[in-house]
Amino acid sequence: MSTVTTDVVIIGAGPCGLFQVFELGLLDLKSVVVDSIAEAGGQCVELYPDKPIYDIPAVPECTGQELIDSLMKQIEPFGAQFYLGQEVTEVTPRDEGGFHVVTAADQHFDCQAVVIAGGLGSFQPRRLRVPGADAFEDVSLHYRVRNPEQYDGSRLLILGGGDSALDWVLELAGRAERITLVHRRDGWRAVDASVNKMKDLVAAGKMDLYENARIQRLDGEDGKLTSATIINRDGEELAQVPVDRALAFFGLAPKLGPIANWGLEIKGKSLPVDTEKFQTSVEGIYAVGDVNTYPGKKKLILSGFHEAALAAFAIKKQIFPDQKVHLQYTTTSPVMHERLGVNPDG
Ligand SMILES: Cc1cc2nc3c(=O)[nH]c(=O)nc-3n(C[C@H](O)[C@H](O)[C@H](O)COP(=O)(O)OP(=O)(O)OC[C@H]3O[C@@H](n4cnc5c(N)ncnc54)[C@H](O)[C@@H]3O)c2cc1C
Repeated sequence: MSTVTTDVVIIGAGPCGLFQVFELGLLDLKSVVVDSIAEAGGQCVELYPDKPIYDIPAVPECTGQELIDSLMKQIEPFGAQFYLGQEVTEVTPRDEGGFHVVTAADQHFDCQAVVIAGGLGSFQPRRLRVPGADAFEDVSLHYRVRNPEQYDGSRLLILGGGDSALDWVLELAGRAERITLVHRRDGWRAVDASVNKMKDLVAAGKMDLYENARIQRLDGEDGKLTSATIINRDGEELAQVPVDRALAFFGLAPKLGPIANWGLEIKGKSLPVDTEKFQTSVEGIYAVGDVNTYPGKKKLILSGFHEAALAAFAIKKQIFPDQKVHLQYTTTSPVMHERLGVNPDG
């Protein structure tokens, strides 16, 4: 366990969390960014990386991924450290002031302020809804592949019809003894090339495929799967297949998750904030982007950008109450140029 000390911990690496790094950096405040998913980008990358956005000021059109790539470039000068693939589980006030923040990966932070840019919550894999499935979770039923070697020589059940399911079918086909792929529909949400490769494996008798089908029952003991019963849409049994391990890829769904346990006032699934500082009901904890609410709130990226700018000024004042903070233009201020590492005069 290590403790990193910083001015501000930003929870969420969506567009608003990333822009928060920039606004804090302009005011000479250091920040780190934590996100439960393994990539920066929040909804833009998780839900619509290739879809165009048309309402980012002065950017007539860019995809979700392009927006995140641009934000990552824009915040480069501030060298914020990223802690990805780890959910923030605890935020507690410290006796000496500020907060102690802990992640599910046992990473600890001490900071003066926290900005929650948690969007709709942290993205969690959608679970397999079969009675008793929980008992197998993390032992022989998994929602992500951490170590492909785990599947060597196994009778592997893969559930899903998107890119993740198909990518892992193809990747693990050479490792597992036998793969059974079960998909609820007969249309695929994966790229055609992967679907075609998978169908070639089926035609060559190297794996089994059940379309328009789902799991009715899982059997096993002490968390270890032994078999799965597959049924069709009418509930008729199609097969009972021997299974050592199962991987389910039903996509990700956001959940407010641990944010709900930090003693903050919550309205619906959002955190009420004021519109001067974007501070939550707890002093020193701010909320920007989709996660917050106030009269007139619109869940748009540009709203989050504005909120991040004002939250940064409020945090500067909170940490350095005696310092006068003047608004400075990035165009003309030598201080801003120094912080950004630029020299506009050549
Ligand atoms: C299909 C679609 C199209 C859209 N198009 C537009 C558009 O054209 N224009 C527009 O302005 N908006 C659009 N939006 C909305 C826009 O994407 C959101 O307003 C924006 O992503 C909000 O950004 P955010 O940074 O607040 O949160 P998010 O993008 O939701 O990111 C929040 C991040 O916080 C992380 N997180 C949450 N809790 C924790 C925790 N406890 N620990 C660690 N990490 C945590 C999550 O994993 C997530 O990555 C669209 C949304 C969708 C779904």
